[in-house]
Amino acid sequence: MAERVLAVDIGGTNLRQAIVDGQGRILHERRDGLRLSQQTSEDAMLDAIVERLRPMLTAHRVQAVGIGFPGFFDDTRGLLVASPNLPYVHDLPLGRRLSERLGLPVALQNDALCAALGEFHFGRGRGATNLLHITLGTGVGGGLILNGRPWTGESGMAMEFGHTRVHPEPTARWCGCGNQGCLEAYASATAITRMYADITGEALDARQIYRRAKNGDELAQALWAEAGASLGAAIAQCVVLLDIHRITISGGLIGAWDMFEAPLGNTLESVLISAQRERVKVLPSRLDDRAGLLGAACLARQTL
Ligand SMILES: [Zn+2]
Repeated sequence: MAERVLAVDIGGTNLRQAIVDGQGRILHERRDGLRLSQQTSEDAMLDAIVERLRPMLTAHRVQAVGIGFPGFFDDTRGLLVASPNLPYVHDLPLGRRLSERLGLPVALQNDALCAALGEFHFGRGRGATNLLHITLGTGVGGGLILNGRPWTGESGMAMEFGHTRVHPEPTARWCGCGNQGCLEAYASATAITRMYADITGEALDARQIYRRAKNGDELAQALWAEAGASLGAAIAQCVVLLDIHRITISGGLIGAWDMFEAPLGNTLESVLISAQRERVKVLPSRLDDRAGLLGAACLARQTL
C-alpha cells in the first residue's frame, strides 16, 4: 500500500493510467479512449478526465496522482497555459482543479517532458546527468533533463522539438503549427502517412508503410530515410548548442527504428565535429511505450 501512486499519460486519442509502486513497478494498468479535442470547454474536459480516473481510484488506494498532458505548463503559477490542439484551454489551474475533484495531490507536466523523466529514472537515460528525450508518434515532442532536473523553459514551452526547422527550402512541407519545414512535417506518423498518400493516393498507416518498406517499396524506404535524416538534423542542432551526449527516443514509431538508424547516424556523422560525434549516443527506449507513465509516477511522488 505504501507509496503507491496513480500515473496518467494523456495522449491525442486515449488516456492511459497505472498504479505504480515505490520501486517504479507497474501493478495495474488500463487504457481508455479519450479525445480531448472533441470537448468544447475546460469544465467538459475536467469531467471527461475525472470520469476515466474514478474506476482506478475506487479500486486502488493511492497517495498522489501524476499526469503527463499535451500542453504548456507554467510551474510558477501552477497553470496549463495552452494546449496546441485544445483551443478552449487558457491559463487553466488544471492541477488544483483536479486535486479538488479527486481529493488527492495532483502534479502535471508536459507529456514529452514526462516521458523524459521516465526514461531518465527508469530507462536508457539512467546514469546520465543530462538527457534529451524525443517522443515520436502522431506528432514529435521533446523533453530535456539538465543536471538531473527537467528544463521547462521560462514559460513552459522549452523543447518544442517537433518544430525545429530542418528544411529551410521554400518548397518545404507545411507543419500543423503553421510554419514550413518543421521536423514534425517529416518524421511523425502523420507526416509519413500524408506523404505516402500524396504521392500514391493510398491511405495507409505508418505501420503499413513500414511493412511496405521492408518488402522493398522504394518510396516507403525513401520516406523513412528522409524521416531519419530529418531527425538526425534536429538532434545535431541540439547537440551543437547544448553539448549533450545521451539522446533517447520513445513513442509508436520506435517500431521502425531499423529504418531510422542508418540515415540518422549518417546525418550526425556529417554535421557534428568528430570530437563530439564520438561521445553522442542515440538510443531507442526499451520501456515499451511506458516512459510517460513512469515519468508521471515520478511527478506524483514529488508531491509526497
Ligand atoms: Zn511546426
